[in-house]
Amino acid sequence: MKFTVIVFLASLFGAGGLAQEQADPALLAEIKKMKAVDNHTHVPRVELAGEHDDEYDALPCGNYVEPTADNVMTRSDNPEYAAAWKALWHYRWDDRKPEHVKEVVAAKQAMKQKQADHYPEWVLDQLGIEVMLANRIAMGSGLKPPRFRWVPYDDALMYPLDNTLMADTPDRKFFFSREEMLLKRYLSDLNLTTVPATLDEYLKLIAKPTLERQKAGGAVAVKFEAAYLRSLDFQPASEAEAREVYGKYFRGGTPESARYKMLQDFLFRYIAAEAGRLGMAVHIHTGAGCGGYFKLSGANPVLLDGVINDPTLRKTNFVFVHGGPPYTQVTAFLLSKPNVYADFSEQTWLYGMRALATHLRDWLEWYPEKVLFGTDLYPNTPEIGWEEIGWQATDVSRRALAVALTGMMRDGGITRERALQLARMALHDNAVKLYGFEAVH
Ligand SMILES: [Zn+2]
Repeated sequence: MKFTVIVFLASLFGAGGLAQEQADPALLAEIKKMKAVDNHTHVPRVELAGEHDDEYDALPCGNYVEPTADNVMTRSDNPEYAAAWKALWHYRWDDRKPEHVKEVVAAKQAMKQKQADHYPEWVLDQLGIEVMLANRIAMGSGLKPPRFRWVPYDDALMYPLDNTLMADTPDRKFFFSREEMLLKRYLSDLNLTTVPATLDEYLKLIAKPTLERQKAGGAVAVKFEAAYLRSLDFQPASEAEAREVYGKYFRGGTPESARYKMLQDFLFRYIAAEAGRLGMAVHIHTGAGCGGYFKLSGANPVLLDGVINDPTLRKTNFVFVHGGPPYTQVTAFLLSKPNVYADFSEQTWLYGMRALATHLRDWLEWYPEKVLFGTDLYPNTPEIGWEEIGWQATDVSRRALAVALTGMMRDGGITRERALQLARMALHDNAVKLYGFEAVH
């Protein structure tokens, strides 16, 4: 009895506000109908028989020496996945018995055969996603504009020298082997086998033409996964010093870390400026990342202060992919810069709905014009694949947006019309404006 009273009082006076807010049902219903632009995904291409797509990430999670332990949201018993099965495949069960889950895999296979090259678009229709940005090494079957837009990787261009000292964790040894492979691929795309003798030639014959090829290939942005490889503190670097270290080590020998970093800093800023000139945004991974050796301290978006305050880079739009969890409040302030945007991809499967709603409200109360929806979906298992992760991430985003906006509405900050407008901006309109997309339908 006494306990009941305390619980009752606590719910009345204690944890009020957003933590207890229920979404306004009419608002949620409207938000569920809104078409979205997904700012960040690792969507797989349609695989032909015997083919295996490994181009969905330059640094794919899961190949680590010590993979990250699954957080609660991404464990297979998250009830959202069963809800996804019901929504996508008409799953008939309330359990996850292997003999029942087999039906999911079979239904998915049947739909893939039926839809063939249209399968990825069919999935987008189920998720209410109009346009999906595909962060991939290359596009492929079923991933065509205007529904899918390309975001290639450019970290590889930053590491033309011997990377032995950079590979300072077991995971980074694997990452740098991937980046070295990708740089070779970029060289061979340009009919080259080795890097040239001077930095000026490297910029002219490799960095610039690679960006131009990406633009010509339909890229709307380029992506850096830099925080997996080094810290995000790209300092202003002198071209003379960058030239010197390049010239000394381009044919071999291991550059000392501080000097090599100077060359990388120079190359990052060069690539960012060129991307801006070509009308491509720069996507940067910020905040938590996967792998048991991921260094969070080097992934804080505040480390990009120097870059976003560089007057020569103001013509480049930067998108802080993931919005820097757990530094999401830092991101809220950084959105004040004219050329900085953030998406809440990855937060969609790291955080529960309440926590995501809190982050979204914070951003929407600062700079709602800069907030972008994103799922960060990726291929996983046959049972819980990109389709289910996409469904879960989309669903949690819509519910979290509704809770955040309901709170703002009830606190008298905004009208219902404005709440709907803010939802549409975050889910769709801000991205359309940033990338200059034409109407899809
Ligand atoms: Zn990602």
